[in-house]
Amino acid sequence: MRSKDERELLSLMKANRIPHGVILQSSQPVTIQKYAQLLSQWAVCQNDAGHKSCGECSGCLKVLSGNHIDVYTAQTAGKLEVVSVDEIRHICSDAYIMPNEATAKVYILPNAEKMQIAAQNAFLKVLEEPPQNILFILCCANAEQLLGTIRSRAMVFNLDSTQVFDEKILEAQVRAKQIATAIIETKGIKLLEATGSINDRGFARLVMTELSDIIRQALITRSGGSAKVCNEAKLIQRRIHRKNLIEILETINTAQTRLGQNINIGLFTAWLCATLRRQK
Ligand SMILES: [Zn+2]
Repeated sequence: MRSKDERELLSLMKANRIPHGVILQSSQPVTIQKYAQLLSQWAVCQNDAGHKSCGECSGCLKVLSGNHIDVYTAQTAGKLEVVSVDEIRHICSDAYIMPNEATAKVYILPNAEKMQIAAQNAFLKVLEEPPQNILFILCCANAEQLLGTIRSRAMVFNLDSTQVFDEKILEAQVRAKQIATAIIETKGIKLLEATGSINDRGFARLVMTELSDIIRQALITRSGGSAKVCNEAKLIQRRIHRKNLIEILETINTAQTRLGQNINIGLFTAWLCATLRRQK
């Protein structure tokens, strides 16, 4: 699942509206590397059928193999792998030289937030008055540590702030579907399994939201509505009476309230399991 910023980055690439300064922020170096590569491909891609970063043209292939002459990754030095002031000065003058084979030049700055103030200030000059057809990609774990003046002249893409959350939502959807189908089982063991492994309140809240969505879908289908519904909702609307579906919704409501209080999660899942069991 992609974060909101990731989706935005991809859509800007598609629309050919990437600004000349991009800050990629992620706690995962591999995520940064992936997007720095994709952006570099976008900048030097020779496929002009509208699909940039094609991964097939010679420009893209050279980026992928790490040896495109117009894509430069700044050298870092020391234990902290910092880009030095001298390296920034080199980039600043090199950036004004025309590209060799692509129509644009790309500079990737690793660990950008670790650069000394002097280096950041030197870089600021070229960022403020960029040459044409240039793309600066600043990679960092935390963009807040960059000078505000740099941040304000580049576009920050937070590649993982919501990613973890999105994954949690997916996990909650799966769990909610398990619970929904377990409600109609004659034996209680499935319901016990599906509810029993929920072990924190934040996750329980997400599961309840998703479950409430499924039950609502089932109710709509039962009332003859033709909204797009998931398979679980279709299944339970055939097996659970309308009155009971409404009761389940009320249980979910109560569950949300209890989760908002300081309820013990073990007691909560036991209560949830027992209550849902009575409502099928
Ligand atoms: Zn290409």
